[in-house]
Amino acid sequence: MNNILEFESLKKVCLDCKQCALSKTRTNVVFGRGNPNTKILIIGEGPGHNEDLEGLAFVGRAGKLLDSAFQSVGIDTNRDCYISNIVKCRPPNNRKPFYDEVESCSTWLNQQINLINPKIIVLAGSTAIESYLKIKEPISKIRGKWIERDGRKIMPIFHPSYLLRNPSKEKGKPKWLTWRDLELVKTELEALKNN
Ligand code: URA
Repeated sequence: MNNILEFESLKKVCLDCKQCALSKTRTNVVFGRGNPNTKILIIGEGPGHNEDLEGLAFVGRAGKLLDSAFQSVGIDTNRDCYISNIVKCRPPNNRKPFYDEVESCSTWLNQQINLINPKIIVLAGSTAIESYLKIKEPISKIRGKWIERDGRKIMPIFHPSYLLRNPSKEKGKPKWLTWRDLELVKTELEALKNN
């Protein structure tokens, strides 16, 4: 990225956002974490309790699982990825973000995507998939398959919170499938490096 200053100034403005009602109940705006100068952008749903307190994306139990899943295929989420969310402020009681909240927050996400210009976007969970791709397909049907959009490769995966509720590593179970999906991401990343 040669526009790191632009990215930092975008963050500064975003941290003061009052575009929707979530700004009234949040502790911190969670802009993201990781390396904006990278090829992989991971997008989740929205900050939870820990993220709201710390102001960083995916730092709770789901985040730890996300980190270790990527680590197991040789991808360091802080070094090799930037991680953000569909909405930057925690919805009360971790409810799903409302349509108007997603819409108003998309201005931040779109600018993040433009500046990072990732080659790969990993969409974690149905909110990220539906909001970003504007499709309503069961996640079990579309996860693990590359989708091309705007010259980028998009990989839908299960949300790590879902994996926390389904911890079996047995063949064919959500965790096993997710590890396979992340192997595809790693293979694509390596291919990009060799181009
Ligand atoms: N779940 C998400 O979707 N995003 C976070 O940042 C944390 C939990």
